[in-house]
Amino acid sequence: MTTAFSGERAYAHLEALCEKIGPRHGGSSGEAKAARYIRDHFKELGLRTRLERYPIYSFEDAHATLTTPRGKQIPCVPLPMTASTSARGITAPCLFIEGSEAVDLDDRVRGKIVVMFGSFRNSVQEQFHAFKPLGLVAIQTAPYRQHQRYAYGADARRSRGSIPTVILTLEDGIQLIKRLPKTLTLKLKTEGEKLTHGYNVVADLKGSDPGDDVIAMCAHFDSVWGSAGAMDNGAGTAAMLEFARVYAQTGSPRNMRFLAFGGEEMGLWGAKAYVKKLKNEDESLKRNKDFERDGLKSKLDCTRFLVNLDMMGQLYGKSNAITLGHADIAASARLLANELRYALAVEENSVYSSDNMAFNYAGVPSISFNRIGFESSGGHTSADTIDNCCAEGLAHIGGIVEAWMDRYVMSPHVFPFPRELPEAATDAVKKWFKEKNPLDYEAFTPQKRYRPKAKKGKK
Ligand SMILES: [Zn+2]
Repeated sequence: MTTAFSGERAYAHLEALCEKIGPRHGGSSGEAKAARYIRDHFKELGLRTRLERYPIYSFEDAHATLTTPRGKQIPCVPLPMTASTSARGITAPCLFIEGSEAVDLDDRVRGKIVVMFGSFRNSVQEQFHAFKPLGLVAIQTAPYRQHQRYAYGADARRSRGSIPTVILTLEDGIQLIKRLPKTLTLKLKTEGEKLTHGYNVVADLKGSDPGDDVIAMCAHFDSVWGSAGAMDNGAGTAAMLEFARVYAQTGSPRNMRFLAFGGEEMGLWGAKAYVKKLKNEDESLKRNKDFERDGLKSKLDCTRFLVNLDMMGQLYGKSNAITLGHADIAASARLLANELRYALAVEENSVYSSDNMAFNYAGVPSISFNRIGFESSGGHTSADTIDNCCAEGLAHIGGIVEAWMDRYVMSPHVFPFPRELPEAATDAVKKWFKEKNPLDYEAFTPQKRYRPKAKKGKK
């Protein structure tokens, strides 16, 4: 493969995002800095560039401690945006239960600090609410992993409140339950929690062919909180910035739109806000019956296809392409990889939990490329640092993405893939949104107006 894509140049962007800027969770000052960095790069390339604000319920930082009656501190990280405790914390009897299955949940948990295995994300918190524990201690089930750095869903928090929650590694958790003390003291504080906004960066490259259709390439540039987010997804962003340079210099027959999305890790906030705007415009135009009869297309109709870059940059690992759309998309990736002797696992019409989902929901097909480095990539933890990434790793995945773009986007006289999703894929996308966070899904569906409310008074 001869490539214009430079792993070295992409790596320089990765250094800027992970080392100079650092953690960038949705709505944080780090994310805003990264947005400006990306905007400046697009502008330097001469692309028509803008920042788009989206609302997000977020926070700046969070701290927690978990202490035994003898004063021993157990290493933990908070689940931000669950309820903060008073400065003295909560001291309560503790209870170990196996998990959040119905069989484990009864009145015993009331007034206790509950220690259990598993995740305490949205749906589990909901199950616990009826039984009113005072605090939750979640033990991760994967061995030798840094603490997961999720944040609690803002919509869930607003509608049903939350229980202060901390996360333990499996190793620390086992030691805790082996000698479970009578009581524990849990302190948790989420700083600067508020309705704020984040940014998407949008950059357009006009194609030489006539027509309004647009091929979009996207990557999310936010990280989970307290993580440099190198593999996930400083690297995908760095690769997209490098692709923008390549096509800005060589030119493109098709209109290209580069989309750097914020707020992905906290629930696709940036991508959903972007798609929702297109969907609203589409619906208001089509309320006028003449619009379609006159052969006009909305901006959403013109969004033909999405190429998503999420998780990459490591030297070793397994490269994947996940498609949602016509069977030809998966076939195209399979055939090309074979021809180039590139090991690429292709998953056809498979749900990939990333920004593509918002587009798929609105009927736009997609291909997502990633490269995952086995168990050690440290995704969603503070171990996801630039140490695991390198220019060669970026060039490796960049090469196959560029070859695919050349063959199917830049070369064909007519763009080869129809703008449609098979019914089963559409259903799978809807199901994913509903299960992931039902409240959030309702807010995203176009029938309902979503107006995030600012928090009033003190809780
Ligand atoms: Zn990601």
